[in-house]
Amino acid sequence: MLYPEWREAMQKEINALEENGTWSMVELPEGKKALGRTFETIDPRRGEIIARIAEGDKDDVDLAVEAAREAFDNGPWPRLPGCERRRLMMKFADLIDEHIEELAALDTIDAGKLFHFGKAVDIPSGSAIIRYNAGAADKIHGQTVKMSREMQAYTLKEPIGVVGHITPWNFPTQMFAVKVGPALAAGCTMVVKPAEQTPLSALYYAHLAKLAGIPDGVLNVVPGFGHTAGAALSSHMDVDMVSFTGSTEVGRLVMQAAAMSNLKPVSLELGGKSPVIIFNDVDVDKAVDIALQAALFNKGEICVAGSRTFVQEGIYDDFIRKLQVKMKSWVVGDPFDPKVTQGPQVDQKQYEKVLSYIELGKKEGATLLMGGKPLEGKGFYIEPTIFTDVTDDMTIAREEIFGPVMSILKFKTIDEAIKRANATKYGLAAGIMTDNLNIANTVSRSLRAGVIWINCYFAFNVDLPFGGFKMSGFGKDEGLEALDKYLHVKSVATPIYNSPWL
Ligand code: NAD
Repeated sequence: MLYPEWREAMQKEINALEENGTWSMVELPEGKKALGRTFETIDPRRGEIIARIAEGDKDDVDLAVEAAREAFDNGPWPRLPGCERRRLMMKFADLIDEHIEELAALDTIDAGKLFHFGKAVDIPSGSAIIRYNAGAADKIHGQTVKMSREMQAYTLKEPIGVVGHITPWNFPTQMFAVKVGPALAAGCTMVVKPAEQTPLSALYYAHLAKLAGIPDGVLNVVPGFGHTAGAALSSHMDVDMVSFTGSTEVGRLVMQAAAMSNLKPVSLELGGKSPVIIFNDVDVDKAVDIALQAALFNKGEICVAGSRTFVQEGIYDDFIRKLQVKMKSWVVGDPFDPKVTQGPQVDQKQYEKVLSYIELGKKEGATLLMGGKPLEGKGFYIEPTIFTDVTDDMTIAREEIFGPVMSILKFKTIDEAIKRANATKYGLAAGIMTDNLNIANTVSRSLRAGVIWINCYFAFNVDLPFGGFKMSGFGKDEGLEALDKYLHVKSVATPIYNSPWL
């Protein structure tokens, strides 16, 4: 179904959202009122307003934290047996599956994401993440420790408390699921502050969680802006931990706010400038396919975008030639259209930012192989853009663009490729393409990045920990490592028979 049919199909949901101000689960205590202000969320395909969303401010964050605190300190959620949390979370995941179309449509109208990909991958991966963590909810165990002949000890793993989740706009569903899934399984209660550009699906997820029977106060969503709602959450004295995904600049502010308030722990999933290193021995057609997706998938709005494509000199010319041919099948347009491979950038600001990076690339001497212009007409569409002759010192090779811009760099030797790939403040992901096992192993050991993909890219799995090195942050999302972030370990020691303590 294409726009405007989807607009019609979603209108009922959108009207409900506007009438209630929010689909949030926060049941406000009697006599307390939310701020009452609203902000517009924009459809990037046409630059039109989709809906006016309740705008949470510090006061609303206080109310949401109060609800989460009460649910943590006195409510059932942290006290339920793990199998009961698992049951409710499984129900939540089933409800997500039942609403795949609506959720995919919300992420498409709000973020310009490909609808068919959303239906097939994004939303099902969201429910898979909730299910994976649900399965872990009743397997949270401590250890027994034999301290000495007279002392016995054990550890307890306990939920960390009230968690503040702050998320970006590029993957509204996955970001929601990777934060909320493990925190729910651990027995935490939480306040989610989704990105102001894309609040719709997070509100819908909260609504589904309520339908699933997750108790009031456990999962609260406060849409709003970063410098108000986000800042209030990260500096809140009653929030026990903040899990943040977003830019490195804002990650630093979140960490500062946490340090200057109650010293709450933070986990940071931040920006990247990931290299894809392609060696002479590869099948060039396959390498072109993978490198292209690595750089341009999701209109380049992905933290792990392979935005520095290093190509070894022996195949460089062939690679460029085949890339140009391949680009003929790349289609920019309405993301509801199944033939389209690239939708609009998320908003006007991001659109202008990407175009300004393209201008910088040209100014600093890179060769514009193709693209480089906005599409005519409404919406925030930009041609897929490829630069060759890019050097390491150019801005487009150093800074995260977060747009459909591929920068190609030539290299000669393995050592050179490793050194140049590592010459960045970021360390999120990297791709290596070679059929030579020695090269693959050597390079993957030498790269300072949290995720390495050999002969593939974007090979995500809920079971595989995800997170960066260096200024790409710390702490893992996904895998059982993510669950650990939301658990405290408590040590309990006790004397046993014949101990001098007795
Ligand atoms: P952003 O840092 O501008 O915003 C992220 C979130 O932080 C938003 O919800 C925003 O409202 C909030 N925020 C802004 N200012 C704040 C403040 N002072 N205090 C608290 N919260 C504040 O990032 P973005 O533009 O939404 O997303 C793009 C960035 O996110 C890119 O750098 C990208 O690499 C990164 N990202 C990283 C990952 C990862 O897993 N490493 C995943 C997706 C996106």
